[in-house]
Formats: sequence, C-alpha cells, structure tokens
Amino acid sequence: MCKLLAALYICIINAPSTILQTPIEYITGISTQRGDMLRKDLNIHTFNDLLNHFPFRHIDKTQVDIIASLTMHDEYAYVAGKLLSLEMLGENRAKRLVAKLKDNTGTIDLVWFQGINFIEKMLHVGHQYLVFGKLGFFNGSPQIAHPEIENFAPQKMDGKPSLEPIYPCTEKLKARGINGSNIAKFTAELFLKITEKDLPENLPEAIISDYKLLRRYDAYKQIHFPFSEKHYQYALRRLKFEELFFAQIRMQLVKLERHRFSKGNVFDKVGNRFNDFYNNYLPFTLTNAQKRVLKEIRKDIGSGRQMSRLLQGDVGSGKTMVALLCMLIAADNGFQSVLMAPTEILATQHFIGISEMLKDMPIKLHLLTGSVKTKARREILKDAEDGTAHFLIGTHAVIETKVNFKNLGLAIIDEQHKFGVAQRAQLRDKNTIPPHVLVMTATPIPRTLALTAYGDLDYSVMDELPPGRKPIETIHRNESARPQVMDFIKTEITQGRQVYIVYPLIEESSTLDFENLMKGYEEIKSFFPEPKYWISMVHGKQTPEIKETNMQRFVSGNTQIMVSTTVIEVGVNVPNASVMVIESAERFGLSQLHQLRGRVGRGADKSYCILLTGNKLSNDGRERMKIMVATNDGFAIAEKDLELRGPGEIEGTKQSGALNFKLASIVNDKAMLEVARDVVEKLLEQDPNIELKENEVIKKYLVSQKGKTSWSKIA
Ligand code: ADP
Ligand code: MG
Repeated sequence: MCKLLAALYICIINAPSTILQTPIEYITGISTQRGDMLRKDLNIHTFNDLLNHFPFRHIDKTQVDIIASLTMHDEYAYVAGKLLSLEMLGENRAKRLVAKLKDNTGTIDLVWFQGINFIEKMLHVGHQYLVFGKLGFFNGSPQIAHPEIENFAPQKMDGKPSLEPIYPCTEKLKARGINGSNIAKFTAELFLKITEKDLPENLPEAIISDYKLLRRYDAYKQIHFPFSEKHYQYALRRLKFEELFFAQIRMQLVKLERHRFSKGNVFDKVGNRFNDFYNNYLPFTLTNAQKRVLKEIRKDIGSGRQMSRLLQGDVGSGKTMVALLCMLIAADNGFQSVLMAPTEILATQHFIGISEMLKDMPIKLHLLTGSVKTKARREILKDAEDGTAHFLIGTHAVIETKVNFKNLGLAIIDEQHKFGVAQRAQLRDKNTIPPHVLVMTATPIPRTLALTAYGDLDYSVMDELPPGRKPIETIHRNESARPQVMDFIKTEITQGRQVYIVYPLIEESSTLDFENLMKGYEEIKSFFPEPKYWISMVHGKQTPEIKETNMQRFVSGNTQIMVSTTVIEVGVNVPNASVMVIESAERFGLSQLHQLRGRVGRGADKSYCILLTGNKLSNDGRERMKIMVATNDGFAIAEKDLELRGPGEIEGTKQSGALNFKLASIVNDKAMLEVARDVVEKLLEQDPNIELKENEVIKKYLVSQKGKTSWSKIA
C-alpha cells in the first residue's frame, strides 16, 4: 500500500466515530495542560467521559446559608460575604492560607493547604465572595477547607431558580485552578455541542413508557443541570435503571448462550452406585432442600449442556452430601469427579468422611493435596489418568496441569471464594467436553449480589437445616468477663463437650497476632492443665503434618480444647464441639463470624458461641456483635454485611467488574435491580437473539459498548 493511503487509512480508523469520542481539549478553556490533568486525575479523556462524570450533588445558588445558623449537622455550606482577612500561617509542611469571611451574622474560616500562593494572589481582602464546600468545625467555629470560591455577583441572586452541579474533583486539580465550577462550565459547553441524536435512546419504547423513565438524552441533561430536585431524581432513576438493565442483559446473555449452545457430558442415568448408596448407606434422610437441589442439578447434568451452578446453603445445611450424591451419579455414567476444598484440613476431612461412608462400596477415591509424597502421588496420578480412580478429593492440587484424567465429568468446588477465575479456567481443559461445575459457597451471598456478580450462573439455594439441630446461643462478653467465660468452658468440658477458641490472625504474617495467639495458648494451658485436660493448637505456621495431627486429635476427642486461628474457619465438622469462643471478635467481619459459629451446633447438644471483645468498641463493631447475637440466619447476616461493608468488601466479588456501577447501588437499589432482572428475563424469553425491531436499540447499544461485555465466572 502506498504511504499516503496507509496514513489516510490510519486517520480513518483513528477518527472519532461519534462526537462523544472527541478529546476534551475541544472544549473552550481546556488547554493541553489542563487536559492532561483531567485525564490523569479524573480519568476524563473524551466528551463521553465528561458526560459521565456526574455531579455528586447540586446546590441552589439562590439560597445562601446564614453563617450564624451553620451547625455540625450541615455537611456542606454555601455562604456569601466579605473577605475580612487573608493570612499565611505556619511553616514548611504546616504552612497554610487562612481567610475569614463575614456575612452580617458571623464569620467563617476558609483554609487552604495546597496551591496557596496562587490562591493568595487571586483573593482580595474587602471583596465579596460566594463560597461553597464541605463544612467542618474547629474549636467550635465553622470552617471550610479548600472551598470553591467565586466572585459575588449580585445578579446571580435574583433570577430564576438555579441548581448548580457540584462535581467530584481532586485537591490537586483545585490547587491548579480546576475546581467543580470549572467542570460545570465545561459540561455546560458540552451540552451546546451535542444533540439528542448523539445520545440515542438505548431502551425500547415499551420499557420507557411502562416504567415511566426519562428519555436518555433528557436524563443526561437533567442529571447535570436539573430544573428541580424532582427532575434530578427522575434523571438518576432513569440512568440507574439503564445501568442495571444492561448489566443484567449482558449477564443473562452469557447464561442463555451457555444454555443454548454449550456442549456438556450427558449423565442421563441413575445407576447402581447411587441407588446402592442411597438405599443402604445414606446415614440420614435428605432434607427437602437437599432433594430439591439434587433435582435441579440432575436436570442440568442430564441436559447435554454444561452445568455451571452455584449452590448456596447456610453453614451446616448439608452441602457435602449433595456433592457426594452428584459424584455417585457421575460414576454411574462412567465419569470421574473432583471435589476441591480451599484448605488441606478441609480436603482431608471431606476425604475421611466420604471414605468412611463409601467403605463398603466399589468406589475408588484418593486424597490429593500439596503434601502428598512423590511415590503416593505417582500412584494417584496414574489412577486418575487410567480411570481407576472415581473421585479425587483435594486442594487445588487436583487440577494442576500434571493431573490428567481419563474422563473427568464433574468438578465440585467447595467454599468457592478461595478459588480464582484462573483455576476455574484450568478445569475447563481437563476433558474434551468440559466437566460440569458445581460451586458451593462458604457463606450465603445476599440475593442482590448473587444476581449481579453471579447472574450468569444457575443458582440453587438450600434454605433448610437438617432436623434436630438446636439453635446456637450467641453471647457477647467483654474482657472483664473472661474468668466467667473460662468457668463456663470448664463446666461444658466436664460434661464431655469440646471447645474451640479462635484467635484473629488476619494476616498470617502478623507477629503481634501470633504472639497473642501464643500468649492465649499459655494462659489457657495454665487454666486447663494436663493431664486432666488436653489442648490442640492449629495455626498457619505449622507444617501440614503437625496441623493434621492436632486436628485429628481434636476430631477423635483426645483433646478437649482447640486453640486456633481462622484456619478452621471453613467446613470443619466436629459434632461433639459445643462451644465456640472467638477472641477479639470485633476484628472479624460478620460473614467470618458466622462461618466460625457454624463450627458448633452440629451435634445434638445445645451449643454456644461466645464473642469476646475489648471493653471499648467502635459503633461498627458493636453493631456487628448485636447482629450476631440477634440472628442465626446466614442469609440475613449476609444482607447486613453487605449493608455495613459495601459490595466491594464481600469475599469473592472484588474482582467482579459486574459491580462497578457508576450510579446504581446494590445496597440501596435492590428493588430496581429486581425489576431490571425481571424485565430482561421477559425480554430475552420473547426475543432471545434480540432481533425484534423494537429491541434494535438494545443491540445497537451493546455493540457500541463491545469492550465492556462482562466475563463469565466460569465459562
Ligand atoms: P455444610 O453445608 O456447611 O458444608 P455439611 O455438609 O458439613 O454442611 O453438613 C453438616 C452436618 O450435617 C454433617 O455432620 C452432615 O453429616 C449432617 N447432615 C447433612 N445432611 C443431613 C440430613 N439430611 N440430616 C441430618 N444430618 C445431615
Ligand atoms: Mg461444607
């Protein structure tokens, strides 16, 4: 190709496809230098980015606050007055610029720590200014740090109502002369450059009218420059809906595609192994929830499509049995299964429990973890490869590349959050037709979170505990009650029960935490001396063998007390343990506390969970203790956890791009999320390929946003 043509070609492909792709320098007042700052600090590159940089609030510029009336309860202040003084105070790093502004009721301090030379030059004592910013109080007097400030223009004050947008802005930008009002000016100019056709509607007319939504262009305009508070709320509602709608449609399309096109191994029969076990060895009757979930799974695995199912069940609801029954079905159909657990302890326990139940059945199973020795490992790998082994139970070691299977058909991932996307992908390569995948969660996930973060998976819930469980009584005590707690433990042990005492070791590397654990251990040992009492201790610094031995001694009842870190958090099952003491309980999150508590209450005895905290608690900590004492319901706790910590902190969802909403919140917009989900479901039922004329706008929009399509958790 000749050079000129090539250059032209490059020009064409680099040319903005719509006006929204225009670089922000095309707005008056944005120099290359300012453009660089906006790109770097606010990630605003194009018109579209500016358009989507939403104000976090609006102020009514016709309504200034009276300085004397400001109180600690006001988050922001917007005041007008005369600059009384302007002074540089302090030295070096403490250097700051302080101004006093006075209206006819009082004065307020304005303080700057950065860019102070520039600001000092800009302001003039005696002039009138309008000032806006976050209000603080210092020694009882009001002050605003780094306020937005503009010349007082009296004509502004009469005129029609004007809600002015206040934009998020960094201190650095403000110090260099770009503040929220500048951004408002840029955005105002942007709206002079674009028209309705640049922001075409992306929702079908029927949805807009059914749900009384603002049109897209109007919503954008009103979210920045609303006529009234009501208009703003409507704009917000429309744009949130749009966000949730498209998140749902992307997710559900992935699911639909899997349902329609993914090829899966067919497990169409229930054979001898399952029936033999079910009739002769099943140690209890299944709960209705277990039966229902099993039915749901059977439908998937018999369909000829690959199963990707998330199984949510509260602690102790009996997920392991569901896993085992599925594995037996796989075996009946000539397929191998793996069961993966996040820790060696848990994998070992699954192996021991399942081996015991299957001991009289013709099933070959192996335990494969990182600590299996070379010779044994060779044997296991051989059995997996030639198909002799029906089940492989272990840690992620079971899906390492060295492990080959003759015919892997089912992978069950217990306590999913410790498994990454990469490991799930690894699984896919283990057979020509990828194995069915069942993901079992450690802790219930709030429904809204499940819909958004895992909406592409099918989803089963076990909301029933096996019968005969006595509810666990949860008690919150502070440090001063320690002696009574110890006495209580003694009574329980005397009655033949066992006790867990868990210490926070949030980071296994933290020396301070480790010292506390050791100190605690010594204390407990002196209170419960050998040979009357025996104590196990398990923590992350031990070798797997020592951990295992200690664990085993507790499981078999040779020790009465288990002192440990959270390594016993997931899954461990010792029915005779009736007391769980959690040290420094305020340092744990709600879900983790619930997980730990789930270690007791597994037998027929009444069980207790004692939350020990320091004498002083933060409000947040106190709230968490209160919730734990009030409820045993994992789903309710998960909801609270989400409310208190926000979605970003909930385990397993951090990496999920699906939660990066700009406006919507899965905590506050639950109802809307459910509506969006239903609307999408109905729409895809009628038009699975999105090809109806009235849905064309959706397709167009999805194509224009191609880069954003969410990845699937498993596929
Ligand atoms: P989780 O769902 O937390 O993994 P587990 O699978 O460890 O729960 O089961 C907890 C306990 O309940 C185990 O001791 C298990 O044997 C027992 N269990 C499971 N299902 C039933 C049932 N249907 N009836 C009685 N006990 C059951
Ligand atoms: Mg479990």
